[in-house]
Amino acid sequence: MCQCSYQLQTVTAANIAAFTTVFCVTEPEEPNRHKRASMIIVPTNTPGCEIVRVVPTMDCEIRLTNVRVPKENLLGSRGEGFVIAQKKLGPGRIYHCMRWLGQAQRAFDLMCNRTLTRYAHGSLLSDKQMIQKFIADSATEIQSARLMTLEAARKIDRGEDARIDIAMIKVYGAKVLHDVIDRAIQVHGALGVTADTPLEKMYREARYARIYAGPDEVHTATIARRILRKYQQGDSWDPANF
Ligand SMILES: Cc1cc2nc3c(=O)[nH]c(=O)nc-3n(C[C@H](O)[C@H](O)[C@H](O)COP(=O)(O)OP(=O)(O)OC[C@H]3O[C@@H](n4cnc5c(N)ncnc54)[C@H](O)[C@@H]3O)c2cc1C
Repeated sequence: MCQCSYQLQTVTAANIAAFTTVFCVTEPEEPNRHKRASMIIVPTNTPGCEIVRVVPTMDCEIRLTNVRVPKENLLGSRGEGFVIAQKKLGPGRIYHCMRWLGQAQRAFDLMCNRTLTRYAHGSLLSDKQMIQKFIADSATEIQSARLMTLEAARKIDRGEDARIDIAMIKVYGAKVLHDVIDRAIQVHGALGVTADTPLEKMYREARYARIYAGPDEVHTATIARRILRKYQQGDSWDPANF
């Protein structure tokens, strides 16, 4: 039997999920910090598992109080939670990046179409150089994010260590998504901040991307630490082989 209590946590779709996975410290005395946590399946109808509220425009707050589940609900072995989390979170982050590319492309399409139909101050928006720069910058950034995502996915497929590639694309992909939607809104003027186009909702959701699956700062620190470690060892940064 496993028993745990847990503070409030933002969990996507917890109100409609049959179970949630809890990542918690079960081996606090273990000297290796990567072997202190375990991963446990908790059915959402277990006594003590409470959906506190569905947060408007976000996800759910959930509280676990003295929740008991059979020991068979332990995923893998005790202390293996970190390894399981790394295996799950890497591909999960790539999946976010792929979704973001689709969203960025949608915003880009809306932006381009708007510039070809909106006539303002003597010309179509598409004839104005500053608006052309929005389009060129957005296309360049989407393509960069696409290639970085593909490269990270290829490394995962080849069984190579893609941790830094994933951290980079998690940070850069979220920024590209935000910036492209931001320009698309700008090109739509006041219309862009109404609910008459999908852009306003896309913009709000793009902002979450810099926080969930690890905030920007955490991934950025991981990238820098890993690169600096190479230099401390007398090596240098080789983008093809971290
Ligand atoms: C829409 C959405 C859905 C989510 N879904 C889930 C889910 O399904 N399951 C789940 O478990 N969690 C989920 N989360 C939670 C998410 O993983 C956390 O919000 C995220 O890890 C940040 O933790 P926090 O909110 O406690 O912020 P904190 O840890 O309090 O961090 C706040 C800020 O402090 C700064 N910061 C934190 N650490 C560092 C650092 N090491 N160096 C420098 N700066 C730092 C960053 O700016 C960060 O944004 C979701 C969050 C959102 C917004």
